[in-house]
Amino acid sequence: MSSARRVVAIDGPAGSGKSTVARGVARALGFPVLDTGAMYRAATLAALDRGLDLTDAAAVTEAARAAEIVVAETAGEDDGDAVLLDGRDVTADIRGPAVTAAVSVVSAHPGVREVMVARQRDWAERHRGGVVEGRDIGTVVFPDAPVKVFLVASDEERARRRHGDEEAAARQANMGEVREALARRDALDAGRVTSPLKPADDALVIDTTGRAVDDVVSEIVSRFESTVGADG
Ligand code: C5P
Repeated sequence: MSSARRVVAIDGPAGSGKSTVARGVARALGFPVLDTGAMYRAATLAALDRGLDLTDAAAVTEAARAAEIVVAETAGEDDGDAVLLDGRDVTADIRGPAVTAAVSVVSAHPGVREVMVARQRDWAERHRGGVVEGRDIGTVVFPDAPVKVFLVASDEERARRRHGDEEAAARQANMGEVREALARRDALDAGRVTSPLKPADDALVIDTTGRAVDDVVSEIVSRFESTVGADG
């Protein structure tokens, strides 16, 4: 079976529950998990570190290409994925306000996406599949994935979750700012020309608002087992 046949693609906007659900599905299936947002965030930090004009597509693409990005494999464990940029631990930095404000500009460059998508496909090839979460996984990166999920949640719930993440990381955040930052990122991610955020035609769309994580995970695992077979 090709590695794409063993990919569970999980897409959706910020705060829709992707990371938590992806980890749960990975744990249930015994699959590794890849957070592609962490890769775009690390590429953004590389561009910021170089002091680049983020609208300079050629320079930003070159910085992304040169950046060695390692997203640690947690095999579905709950602790957040450690991320290394050129050997440096940037796990906390990539979640900070500077990167969060800039990442949607960096990730809109087609050259940056080309570099990241190639690495994501390599990752799946090496692992013979896995749970991959992002924005364009079902539409562009693995259009042949047997299970594609698009998570959504109400704006209010997404803002509450992101605010909770900020507080858990001991970062100052007020609800209004979190809401605005989310709306800005949604508009850029869904409005870009290359690989915009949108559900694949054959995606299972799940609204996670007010639903228990285990419940959503079970729904996806059942879908995988009925599509691919319980022994994958
Ligand atoms: O998932 P997370 O919110 O960490 O993603 C950060 C940003 O990375 C997104 O807002 C989006 O601009 C970009 N991204 C992307 N394609 C992906 C994953 C993330 O463009 N597959």
